[in-house]
Amino acid sequence: MRAEILSVGTELLLGEIIDTNSAYLAGRLADLGIDCLHMQTVGDNLGRCKEAFERALARSELVVATGGLGPTEDDLTREAIAAALGETPAVDAALEADLRAWFAGRGLTMPERNTKQAWLIPSARALPNPLGTAPGWDVRKDGKRIVAMPGVPREMTPMWEGHVEPTLSRQATLRRRTLKLLGIGESAVEERLGDLVRSTAPTVATYAKNDGVHVRIADKATSSDEADARIAKMEREVRARLGEYVWGVDGESLGDVIGTALASRRWTLALGESLSAGDLARALSDAPAARGQLAGAVVRLGADEGSLERDARSFGADVLLLTPDGDGKVELRAITPERSRQATIHFRSPADGRRRALLSGLDLLRRALLD
Ligand code: ATP
Ligand code: MG
Repeated sequence: MRAEILSVGTELLLGEIIDTNSAYLAGRLADLGIDCLHMQTVGDNLGRCKEAFERALARSELVVATGGLGPTEDDLTREAIAAALGETPAVDAALEADLRAWFAGRGLTMPERNTKQAWLIPSARALPNPLGTAPGWDVRKDGKRIVAMPGVPREMTPMWEGHVEPTLSRQATLRRRTLKLLGIGESAVEERLGDLVRSTAPTVATYAKNDGVHVRIADKATSSDEADARIAKMEREVRARLGEYVWGVDGESLGDVIGTALASRRWTLALGESLSAGDLARALSDAPAARGQLAGAVVRLGADEGSLERDARSFGADVLLLTPDGDGKVELRAITPERSRQATIHFRSPADGRRRALLSGLDLLRRALLD
């Protein structure tokens, strides 16, 4: 089944809001193994909105739309769907009664313009909205289906999960595994992966992220065992080429990996932070596994390695991590009972330095603990 997502709202086209609905729906469709091949965004304009539905229906079996179901003049999704299908909306008595009861329950009289939220066309059935006034539409015609839901994410997601997803059959199982790498750039990762990035079952893709480079291995199959087996085989191939840079998988954080390594040796850690300005303390205290191993941290701006080491020693910890300050270039140091390791970083501004000191500091510590 081919699906596409249609977002309605001029606010989106003006850049005033970000289309999180499409991102959410795309993820949910992917999990169901339904191919989402297009996304469209259109403003609150009847002609263009109608055209967008027509275009979508011409190439997709399932069209999932959000936005434009409110009661106001510029909420035009119902009108656009009706026009695209050549049907005429009419007030549905049961929906109107529900709507009036919703207002009465809050001690209000329903504004007449809300009546259009009780509209249906012959091909549409209402999707309940327990959190707002606008029901969604579930339209089926000529083998095609349009699902129209409110724009407000808090109303849309329960409607999708409660009333739409249960009616969609899983087409395939999509399984994914993400390997997280540090100490190597994205293009170098791709070069080492070589022909693997052209694989189609599973697919292998690289992404530059805040915590390094991610290699995502994904597979779609009718059985999850089949997909898992192919992913496991590909993971071994990827690790054979890049294993030294892999620090974690899927939801793991660097802080967790470091915390686990410290705990397994019953070592505690103290931080002497200048360039990283406290970011390491925060990252490690946010990671449940690392928090308990953190003996303390000193943050002093403009400090060199010697003075940071003296300060950090005062906590009596087994392991030290030091991020001295410098002018565009510094050496970070990790000292364990077994070895001392350093890493040079270059940076363009204090903010750039702080970011690099955080990531490189965590990576240096990880290597010092695990080598
Ligand atoms: P309402 O009944 O509140 O008018 P609606 O279905 O008409 O709902 P819109 O008027 O299009 O929806 O949008 C209402 C609000 O929902 C927007 O101001 C925005 O905050 C949020 N919203 C709409 N579309 C999106 C989207 N694609 N992604 C994230 N948020 C959205
Ligand atoms: Mg609206």
